[in-house]
Amino acid sequence: MKLLPSCHDVQTELTEYAEGALPLSRRIGIRLHLLFCRVCAGFLRGLKALPGLAKHALAPPSAPPEAAVKALADMQAVLSKQKAP
Ligand SMILES: [Zn+2]
Repeated sequence: MKLLPSCHDVQTELTEYAEGALPLSRRIGIRLHLLFCRVCAGFLRGLKALPGLAKHALAPPSAPPEAAVKALADMQAVLSKQKAP
């Protein structure tokens, strides 16, 4: 594991960082990153300003797998129709 996380790492874990849910080693890395990265520091400020909203926006999509499978099937059906002569 790297000491200094990338912007992607930081932004992925920022919600947990803000909640204090990360282990100390991760918090230190993120804290250091935030010292010199204005982009991620801005993300953290946004998170703290809008806790509930930002958390919800950053959460992975909660669509059930069946919906995704059906959407994929629909898409494949449309594509196969377009390819037909
Ligand atoms: Zn960054």
